[in-house]
Amino acid sequence: MLDRDNELNAFDRDHFFHPSTHMGTHARGETPTRVITGGKGATIVDRNGRESLDAFAGLYCVNVGYGRTEIADAIAEQAHKLPYYHAYVGHGSEPSIQLAKMIIDRAPEHMSRVYFGLSGSDANETNIKLIWYYNNVLGRPEKKKIISRWRGYHGSGIMTGSMTGLALFHNQFDLPRAPVLHTEAPYYFRRPNRDQSEEEFSTWCAEKLEEMILAEGPDTVAAFIGEPLLGTGGIVPPPAGYWEKIQAVLEKYDILLVADEVVTGFGRLGTMFGSGHYGIKPDLITIAKGLTSAYLPLSGTIVSDKVWKVLVEGSDKLGAIGHGWTYSAHPLCAAAGVANLKLIDDLGLIDNVNEVGTYFRANLTDALGSHAHVGEVRGDGMLAAVEFVEDRDDRVFFDPARKVGPQIAAALAERGVIGRAMPEGDILGFAPPLCLTREEADIVVTRAKEAVEAVVATL
Ligand code: PMP
Repeated sequence: MLDRDNELNAFDRDHFFHPSTHMGTHARGETPTRVITGGKGATIVDRNGRESLDAFAGLYCVNVGYGRTEIADAIAEQAHKLPYYHAYVGHGSEPSIQLAKMIIDRAPEHMSRVYFGLSGSDANETNIKLIWYYNNVLGRPEKKKIISRWRGYHGSGIMTGSMTGLALFHNQFDLPRAPVLHTEAPYYFRRPNRDQSEEEFSTWCAEKLEEMILAEGPDTVAAFIGEPLLGTGGIVPPPAGYWEKIQAVLEKYDILLVADEVVTGFGRLGTMFGSGHYGIKPDLITIAKGLTSAYLPLSGTIVSDKVWKVLVEGSDKLGAIGHGWTYSAHPLCAAAGVANLKLIDDLGLIDNVNEVGTYFRANLTDALGSHAHVGEVRGDGMLAAVEFVEDRDDRVFFDPARKVGPQIAAALAERGVIGRAMPEGDILGFAPPLCLTREEADIVVTRAKEAVEAVVATL
């Protein structure tokens, strides 16, 4: 066992280029390798038999929890029948067609078709191309700019990394690239003017958006992309009135709205989609993560009736669309998706989000909401965040170099619970599997409080 551990550590250090990892410290063996070998429900286990309660569901994706044999069996059954055939020029497999139907049945009313990809990033690349194509078909070749928000997260590619509004994803890569622009984050806790009410702050965000559109020229702005609830940027629910005011501006200038529901789709907010939850009427919706609960990679772009009509008009004029991935609508991934969406229904997971998610957030607020170094406890559905500050009354943030957030996340992990230090600010995020139990929620809250106390004692 020890020999095999040493061997795996050496292979890992010498050959495995990890994503989002400090390359130097890891290659030098200064940071540990943790080899995860199994999981059940909300709990994962590593090679040393050490269990952790995964209160971030991997990367907010293992929504139905670990160890679901229904999904594993559906994948195996499909692999025995037909592992792969492409979806070009009208080909399909039973699960990919079935899944498209299940997604549209669950999506907001005005949605029409699903284009499948493999990751949230590639689905957002598809969105950008469809938006450009749409305006080309409509004879508006200048209308191509895309506005996203600071702190938005939309992927790691060149264009999707550009739409992401986090310095970590821009610096060192010459991003963002044109034609992507960033407007204000709907982050009420960090509002520049602390006298503003939520409604006033939302009005200000909409005014800033309108100013940008007018400065750029409305004829050059094609689309606005946003997560219904800001995810990786800090797990921040939208302030009151935000989406209504933003949508009014977009409508005025004939600008498409993309709802990036990679995190919020399929139940995380206690509704099938975040769009319905916050009164958003998107033209395009990005889905991934919760679509298969990450049992296999699969993403999608859901296209509205309005956009679909123009796309059809486009191919009647221009021929077949020149956009396709080899693995689009991969039969095994689609089989995982079908089984996963069935499980969400059969297990009543959306009801569980409303019940246990609400219980979890209320208890987290009770435990930490009035702590001297906690600025805010926030969230919605099965998503929560605790934001740490040096001074609560004057809203003074910690120097990022002190790494207070990462220290607290590490102290929590030592106590057997996985949360996530969000990349900008000292924010501890939680996105547990949707099947979290009340008992597990209690453990997360108790351990989080202990971790905070332990780190604060050293400050
Ligand atoms: N959009 C959102 C809202 C996301 O949270 C993510 C991933 N965290 C992505 C897009 C990108 O997805 P992927 O990592 O699968 O490319």
